[in-house]
Amino acid sequence: MTNPEPKSGNPIIEPIPPADHRTATESPRQVPLLPSMAIVETPRFHIVGYSVAGEESAVQIPELNVVFDIGKCPRPLLVSDFCLLTHGHIDHSAGIAYYLSQRIFQGMSPGTILCPAKIADGVAGIVHAWAALEGKVAPHRIVPMEVGDEFEIRKGLIARAFATCHTVPSLGYTLVDRREKLRPDLLEQRLPGHILREMKDRGEKITYTVDVPLVAYTGDTALGETLLQNGVHDAQVLITECTFFDPGHKRRAAIGRHLHLDDLLEVLPQLHNDLVLIAHVSRRTGLRRAAGALKHALSKASVQPRVEFLMDHAQHLHVRAGKAAAFVPTEPPIIDETDG
Ligand SMILES: [Zn+2]
Ligand SMILES: [Zn+2]
Repeated sequence: MTNPEPKSGNPIIEPIPPADHRTATESPRQVPLLPSMAIVETPRFHIVGYSVAGEESAVQIPELNVVFDIGKCPRPLLVSDFCLLTHGHIDHSAGIAYYLSQRIFQGMSPGTILCPAKIADGVAGIVHAWAALEGKVAPHRIVPMEVGDEFEIRKGLIARAFATCHTVPSLGYTLVDRREKLRPDLLEQRLPGHILREMKDRGEKITYTVDVPLVAYTGDTALGETLLQNGVHDAQVLITECTFFDPGHKRRAAIGRHLHLDDLLEVLPQLHNDLVLIAHVSRRTGLRRAAGALKHALSKASVQPRVEFLMDHAQHLHVRAGKAAAFVPTEPPIIDETDG
């Protein structure tokens, strides 16, 4: 026996060793202790989250104070004041009641949920139904959104809804950095501040608006025009679903209105993102095979944006079996045709 048993009921937490340090005979084997949260660093913000088709999707941009979808509300995601819900499938929405209630329990301000207008009553219904169990309604705000609607997260940061195409009412969201800049003709004249103030007081428009799409998140969607819309194809970071990769899964993708790798490859030359992050990969394929299929496909393409898998950035905490043997995962069940 090479590894000691845990002395108490608490599992031993330790980082997973590099794969080449393990042997087939090493025992007991290590298994994941917690769902693996991905952390991606970009020049302006981090992307933190978890996304597996049909199971859970919740993706946070901590610096921008938002979480896209709230599958089961992993604890770090609680601190974002705004939850931008793409649609009501449970792998994207099951954490709503917990997110709202737990924020109050932890002394935070009431959470705000942006959601497709068609499901706003349903979201409110869930929150109020939970009051029958908790004895009170968690303070909250629900903001119904339509395609093109904008919501100010904070001064200069806008959430804008864009059209997606799924089996239930759905929206994607772009976070836009909006700045007012001095008109070029006025900039050239180098006018002093008090003159500019006087012009402004007279009602003259002395600035123009510059929108920079920082990050777009699709949620679940079929291809349609989704990825080619303004604010999506040109966002600095695009977080898009791509559920299926196997050639034999195109029918599943069509039925569930999800993206297949072939769809993504079709539009990839038209994407101008610095980084495309793929989320919502089906366990039917698994990350390793999906990555192989993507790499093979990209090796034939001449120009493309940087494309990575969100869950390839997962940080693993593992546990040794023993008292914690209950953590050993079983084979995932076969899920329905739609994969959420
Ligand atoms: Zn869905
Ligand atoms: Zn889903």
